[in-house]
Amino acid sequence: MAEKIKTDVLVVGSGPAGSLAARSAAENGVSVTMIEMRPEVGVPVRCGELMPSVHEIKDMFGDLPEFDELFDLPSSLMVRNVEAIRLIDPKSRTWEFPFTGYTTDRDRFDQYLAEQAVSSGAELIKSCRFKGLENGVAKTTIGDIEFKVIIGADGPGSRVAQSLGLPRNRNQYPAVSAQADGDFDPVIQMFFGGIAPGAYGWIMPKAGQANVGVGFSPKFSNGTLGEYFDKFVRLQGLDVKTRIEGKYVPSEGPIAKTYTDIGMVVGDAAGVVMPVNGGGIPQAMITGRMAGQVAADNILGNRSIAEYEQAWRSILYKPLKIAAGNKKLADTFAFRSEGSTAFCMRLLGKRRMGKLIRCKRLFP
Ligand SMILES: Cc1cc2nc3c(=O)[nH]c(=O)nc-3n(C[C@H](O)[C@H](O)[C@H](O)COP(=O)(O)OP(=O)(O)OC[C@H]3O[C@@H](n4cnc5c(N)ncnc54)[C@H](O)[C@@H]3O)c2cc1C
Repeated sequence: MAEKIKTDVLVVGSGPAGSLAARSAAENGVSVTMIEMRPEVGVPVRCGELMPSVHEIKDMFGDLPEFDELFDLPSSLMVRNVEAIRLIDPKSRTWEFPFTGYTTDRDRFDQYLAEQAVSSGAELIKSCRFKGLENGVAKTTIGDIEFKVIIGADGPGSRVAQSLGLPRNRNQYPAVSAQADGDFDPVIQMFFGGIAPGAYGWIMPKAGQANVGVGFSPKFSNGTLGEYFDKFVRLQGLDVKTRIEGKYVPSEGPIAKTYTDIGMVVGDAAGVVMPVNGGGIPQAMITGRMAGQVAADNILGNRSIAEYEQAWRSILYKPLKIAAGNKKLADTFAFRSEGSTAFCMRLLGKRRMGKLIRCKRLFP
């Protein structure tokens, strides 16, 4: 028989954004239910599994003291430290610059964050899919859930955003990844050109293996993502040992509005992914935590939900907007052909490509 659940805050999705939202709301004294449509949190892994260091996150988004605590994760989740990014153009020319961070096992990473939410008092219900809203009540595959505030942490194609009447991400890029065996340098490798039109192929070093993957822009491509992935693996001589898994990546920057009077969207659902490189885990955690705090304050103390948007915009909006502008430039000038990709990379050079990756202005 269908259950009837009542909760202060309903969080839909148990990725990094959802778990941080659930934890933060629970820590601030309200009841929280987090639902996840998958039977196991974080499984299967659909990610390149790279986390920038706190130093890099502060360099991109500003030096906020709370980032130290937010990103203070157990060393057991840090599978391999990385020291640099190497960019490879279609003619195999390379540029390398320092970049610090680590690769993780994304399934364990997401499970750790979800466990922290549960330890803080949130209830986690797995194998439960949000279907929509009817008269302010959430319809799910296990029955109705009554809530005061809903947080959509349900990824790029957010059904919560749609149900709240919020804009959804447009122009999403498909991307896939898998694990390959082998010994790799502690360097992130990004391959540009016809190998991954409009985006890039990657090798992210792990321990005795690497996360390897490809993303592309449908408008520049003329094959399936599986075909591009197979070609990339063949050309790089990679020993892929797992199934390929994928999903969509928002590519245009944040959606225009991320809240209503009863809800908010966070992480990929809000489009807060770096358009130039597809990275979204740190911003998912940042927006998740902000939304959970605002939800609790709204329920307990009448803080306006609109403050959520002011909070994330003050930190993330400018770098993400700059990155979206840079991405448009790349689409217009660099991604038209292998020749133009190689030409633009040479023109930009190491320093400007470092800026590009870090969501900074290319020209003063
Ligand atoms: C191939 C690939 C590689 C990537 N590599 C990196 C990387 O190396 N580093 C990085 O920082 N970012 C990377 N990203 C982006 C990163 O994965 C996302 O930005 C991040 O996962 C966003 O977290 P989230 O919590 O917003 O959403 P998600 O992690 O997508 O979580 C959403 C959750 O909601 C659940 N859900 C969805 N719909 C419903 C529903 N209707 N009801 C209930 N539950 C639902 C899903 O099952 C999922 O668990 C990559 C993305 C892809 C596709």
